[in-house]
Amino acid sequence: MTRKPVIEVRRSKRRRRTVSAYRDGERVVVLIPAQFSRAEEREWVDRMLERLAAREQRARRTDAELTTRAQRLAARYLPDHPAASRPASVRWVQNQNGRWGSCTPADGTIRISHRVQEMPDWVIDYVLLHELSHLVIPSHSSAFWALVARYPKSERARGYLEGVSAAAGLGITE
Ligand SMILES: [Zn+2]
Repeated sequence: MTRKPVIEVRRSKRRRRTVSAYRDGERVVVLIPAQFSRAEEREWVDRMLERLAAREQRARRTDAELTTRAQRLAARYLPDHPAASRPASVRWVQNQNGRWGSCTPADGTIRISHRVQEMPDWVIDYVLLHELSHLVIPSHSSAFWALVARYPKSERARGYLEGVSAAAGLGITE
């Protein structure tokens, strides 16, 4: 858990509707239009804190962190499948809107959509294990799903992803 930051709200007469926030040492400075009511101020401070946390989480989730996470998952859930244990590269990509993740078994590369970057750790783990399993079995056969099911939260994560896709009207499938 992170400590609740000290929040400094600055009202600006020049601002009409735009709100922004940034971290300044221990404080978070939130800039709002001078005309905002107290209720709007509270609502926007909460919203901006959430956005800031998401942005910071995204910054922590680098390609290096993703690769380490993939290696740890492969060692834990697919130790009997050397093909999965050493992916050639694992990285976040911005240009993949129809899928959560993809892989190329021929060269051992895995790409994960930036849409997953702000999701909980256990969902990222599922998406990674799904792609790692494809390095072993490219198709969605029952043998493939048996590999994926080694990760205890697979079903829950699939439900989570379906929910996100439906809510956002993304139409993303596995
Ligand atoms: Zn798949």
